Amino acid sequence: MTSTVTRETAAFTSALDVIAQVEPRVAAAIGQELTDQRESLKLIASENYASPAVLLAMGNWFSDKYAEGTAGRRFYAACQNVDTVERLAAEHARELFGADHAYVQPHSGIDANLVAFWSILAHRVETPALAEAGVKNVDAMTPEDWERLRRSFGTQRMLGMALDAGGHLTHGFRPNISGKMFEQSSYGTDPETGLIDYAALRERAREFRPLILVAGYSAYPRRVDFAKMREIADEVGATLLVDMAHFAGLVAGKVLTGDFDPVPHADVVTTTTHKSLRGPRGGMVLCTEEYAPSVDRGCPMVLGGPLPHVMAAKAVAFAEARRPDFAGYAQQIVDNAQALAEGLQKRGVRLVTGGTDNHLVLMDVRSSGLTGRQAESALLDAGLVTNRNAVPADPNGPWYTTGVRLGTPALTTRGFGEAEMAEVGDLIADVLDNTQAEGDSKVKYRLDEAVAGRVRARAAEIVGAHPLYPEVDLTGR
Ligand code: PLP
Repeated sequence: MTSTVTRETAAFTSALDVIAQVEPRVAAAIGQELTDQRESLKLIASENYASPAVLLAMGNWFSDKYAEGTAGRRFYAACQNVDTVERLAAEHARELFGADHAYVQPHSGIDANLVAFWSILAHRVETPALAEAGVKNVDAMTPEDWERLRRSFGTQRMLGMALDAGGHLTHGFRPNISGKMFEQSSYGTDPETGLIDYAALRERAREFRPLILVAGYSAYPRRVDFAKMREIADEVGATLLVDMAHFAGLVAGKVLTGDFDPVPHADVVTTTTHKSLRGPRGGMVLCTEEYAPSVDRGCPMVLGGPLPHVMAAKAVAFAEARRPDFAGYAQQIVDNAQALAEGLQKRGVRLVTGGTDNHLVLMDVRSSGLTGRQAESALLDAGLVTNRNAVPADPNGPWYTTGVRLGTPALTTRGFGEAEMAEVGDLIADVLDNTQAEGDSKVKYRLDEAVAGRVRARAAEIVGAHPLYPEVDLTGR
């Protein structure tokens, strides 16, 4: 019998052998990470599995190159190949999302937001100040004009979604630099329905008059009406910034279209590339022609030198997302989230907003007498990887929380379908039903051992039926 070794197996085996010659413990940890990920039933809404082509595009000599500036306009010599991959990534991104302009250098989602904030400030605050001073750039300003401009950066306003409604720290909250840079106010969700209250948001925007209206979330299980957001931004003279870090894959896969697609409505759109979009870890900014010159100044304005190896991997991932099968993948993410939500609701688990129409489900576990932290730990003991998350008006605050967030992009990549997701919902409910808080602790709990063992075994069976990276076989290495 002849055995065939796949190209992927050969590539990863050789790479690990080369690494092991220098530091075998690193090679062992990389191999162990694959084993652990294969065995884990991962419901983390912000994680996914990139393809072998994306992973391999990152591990090479592009990493050795400095390339400050943008393609064709570098501060460094010999960037011709970096120009090629940066242009390819941007071209794929523009086509994929129908955007006027794409800036593919941000190293992460936070960095993409920083680029967006400072390019909006440059366009809306710095450019008029330069015109008023009658000079072309900040170096030509008098010390007095410069000081006035510098101070005015710190008096601008941002309106973003409240953290406990599902917003993100980078949307103007104090622990992040956005909260230190901007005067911030937030909008929330309707206490009855859990849905964004657009009328209240409009009222808040009229009173607060932000320079930037931020839409986008990390824990809101519903679609956002970006056409309405555009109307509100226009009414108050705000720049509309949409952070689609979580749902970029659903936009790329044309599940979110029309009023629910941010790209035709926003001035600036930021994203991560590694969540539902299934690319390498990184960020990106899309924008209109109007904002493009300021966005392209991201490096060195707020970013260090670009990571050409990651831009190469972004180009590969965007090319994958432009293939026809990506739309099917994106739709399956949502079908799976809805099947999971129905499975949980049949068992009486309360969900924020009563369901989902994107990739995530937010459970409110208070009726089980648990904090989010206890539920997250008990689920992990039973082999189910989730993460705790605040719910609107959370009585336990953002650390212990009352919610647990679940997401389907990663399991959908493994090939899970609706029937399995409904069963995962049942397994989660089994764990919640058999876990008790210890006294009035927000951390300690007791999970029935037999139930934990049974759920762990079944979770292992289900993930075993959907092997992760089936084209990579490291046995015998
Ligand atoms: N924006 C949103 C909405 C997010 O959910 C996240 C990550 O969780 C980020 C930005 C930050 O992304 P990164 O971790 O790549 O900096």
